[in-house]
Amino acid sequence: MFAVTALRVALPLPLPHLFDYAPPARATVDDGWIGCRVRVPFGRGHAIGVVAEVGPPEIDPGKLKPASERLDTEPLIAGELLASLRWAAGYYQRPLGEVLAAALPVDLRQGKPLPDTAPLAWRLTAIGAANLRQLRSGGRPRQLADWLAEAGALDAAAINQRLPDWRPALRSLMGRGFVEECLGAHALRTPERAPPALNPEQAAAAERIRQALGQFDPILIEGVTGSGKTEVYLDAIEAALSRGEQALILVPEIGLTPQTLRRFQQRLPVEVHSFHSGMAEGARARAWTAMRRGEARVLVGTRSAVFAPLPQPGLIIIDEEHDSSYKQQDGFRYHARDFALVRGKALGVPVVLGSATPALETLQLARSGRLAHVHLKKRAAAARAPHVRVLDARRQRLTHGLSEPAFQAIAECLQRGEQALVFRNRRGYAPALLCHDCGYRANCSRCDAALTLHGRDRLICHHCGHRERAPTACPDCGSLALMPQGAGTERVEVALAERFPDAPLVRIDSETTRDHGDLARHFDTLGQGAGLIVGTQMLAKGHDLAKLSLVVVVTIDEGLFSADFRAAEKLAQLLIQVSGRAGRAQAPGQVLLQTHHPEHPLLATLLAGGYPAFAKLELAEREAAGFPPFAHLALLRVDSHREDALQLFMREAHAAARAIVASDPSLSVEVHAPMPAPMARRAGRMRAQMLLSAKLRPGLQAVLRAWNAALFELKSGRGVRWSLDVDPGDLY
Ligand code: ADP
Ligand code: ZN
Ligand code: ZN
Repeated sequence: MFAVTALRVALPLPLPHLFDYAPPARATVDDGWIGCRVRVPFGRGHAIGVVAEVGPPEIDPGKLKPASERLDTEPLIAGELLASLRWAAGYYQRPLGEVLAAALPVDLRQGKPLPDTAPLAWRLTAIGAANLRQLRSGGRPRQLADWLAEAGALDAAAINQRLPDWRPALRSLMGRGFVEECLGAHALRTPERAPPALNPEQAAAAERIRQALGQFDPILIEGVTGSGKTEVYLDAIEAALSRGEQALILVPEIGLTPQTLRRFQQRLPVEVHSFHSGMAEGARARAWTAMRRGEARVLVGTRSAVFAPLPQPGLIIIDEEHDSSYKQQDGFRYHARDFALVRGKALGVPVVLGSATPALETLQLARSGRLAHVHLKKRAAAARAPHVRVLDARRQRLTHGLSEPAFQAIAECLQRGEQALVFRNRRGYAPALLCHDCGYRANCSRCDAALTLHGRDRLICHHCGHRERAPTACPDCGSLALMPQGAGTERVEVALAERFPDAPLVRIDSETTRDHGDLARHFDTLGQGAGLIVGTQMLAKGHDLAKLSLVVVVTIDEGLFSADFRAAEKLAQLLIQVSGRAGRAQAPGQVLLQTHHPEHPLLATLLAGGYPAFAKLELAEREAAGFPPFAHLALLRVDSHREDALQLFMREAHAAARAIVASDPSLSVEVHAPMPAPMARRAGRMRAQMLLSAKLRPGLQAVLRAWNAALFELKSGRGVRWSLDVDPGDLY
């Protein structure tokens, strides 16, 4: 019998199977198709997918439709990357087509051809090399020829760095046949800056990574803010480059500033490519493609840069590895740090995780010996650790949220000609609007949440974006005593402007600051003299503020009592990061922590023993409570317009999970009862969730595979939106 071989295509659809097609007319099917993009007829139109397998179709061969077009002659996603993405699709319970689509830049996902990437470069010809000395020494053509002789090849960007207005010199060299064009894949440039001499701690860390090159070796660098982690990364990247290898550096969303990129570019002998959501699609596709072709040697990017191809892999670095922006919060909910570790293992390269406040998961891996642990305990550039003081707000009169001792410290800071950062992690004027007479609170009509007051009279829901005018009288009792409750960044700004009318004052939150350009303008306004910054966690990273010597944390009390199991960890990390902003340069830093709960154990531990003491205590609590990293979780998140549809699906999903677990008790997975989500209604939709937990991953994975398949079969699933979140970042 004649076996039919089909293209088994992964399409970006929320369906758990592949789609079978015949090859386009006259084409034959072989393994060379796997990893290539194809355009296929789908529904009434077309879709772009990636061939995941070739083999016998699962549908009747007579019903196979031919694919319309093969878009790649060679596999676009191949080898290790394809294997790692298949693993991720399985681990995160996500259809392969969606995973592959997420891994590709939008232009490539939509079927565009691979972009041109190689910049043009120039090199000496044999004639040029032999006759170089004929050129007048000191003249521009000679300078340029000497550099080309030294570097091998230079592209326009590299020549620009050294010789302004170099085109005439180049034309003359080319006219004499001394120089020719070539592709600038490996054009080297001379770093603009020499590295500082590493201190002994940095040198030991750098040496540890150098030793690891060439094999999978995960290394945690726990270094206090300002300890010079970036210098250690740069040293390791150079070592990988000199072995002819590529380096991938992941940074958090707010960490990828033009300053960060410039710092890498100034110090490395190759072009540094970037990859982040703020880039035009064309530029993203070029960076990805340049990595795949081996033309790009260094890529610095945010979360999804973890999907960059690494044909000559050398090193993966994850800066601020604890940062929650590494976890994708919808669709394909991967964790970039975890995926980087999987890739590092498959590629046989070291993975460096750096942080001042490592994730508890990471610390536990280090404790159990699965990760090397290197410490940087000293600040590098002679700066001292900031002094932290708790300010008991209970017996203080607060003016727009700020106590008198806080105002006092700010006044002194300004008098010294220095800058103060007032940190408040809530934007808007006030987090709630209350009636003083009857207790009414202005709530969102579509969410179970209070509306935030912005300015004097706008109420905005921070969860669904709903807006309305603030009422002038209480809708319940008619009283005029409507009072803003608490203080957001706007209100703190008002307080500071009233008290310090002459000091430059900037507010930095998502309303005043959309991008790095806005941020740079704010810092220009602020200048280099005395001044004030109010802002949210946008300020926790990035810009070096040399004049900043005081950080006032207005309150973090909401975080102290959050129900989420990760809340304490996130709060401790944020406090340490924000505190680290103080005294990065000459001025010694001071941190004032204003709180109504000065005796809270989290604060006491953090103050007495720093992050390591906190982490030790918190890990013990997680272990006692059976939370990660001592258990593994998966959360089913469901929402619907209709309460009855939601209830029905939750009941059936729960029964399905129970049945799977009952069929094989050795799996040892705990199935928790369905619950309303902590915010049970958002944007008009009812929300529920259900948790599975297990001591060991393999058992949980086995249950999830069966459960995911069962959920797709449930008819009640059509009335709801559902998704599985494996290793959820939080339970909200
Ligand atoms: P981290 O990334 O750990 O917060 P950075 O690498 O940004 O620290 O270094 C903090 C500051 O110290 C930077 O201004 C950096 O230029 C400087 N620095 C780092 N290492 C050294 C060194 N060995 N000698 C002098 N200055 C250094
Ligand atoms: Zn009222
Ligand atoms: Zn809302």
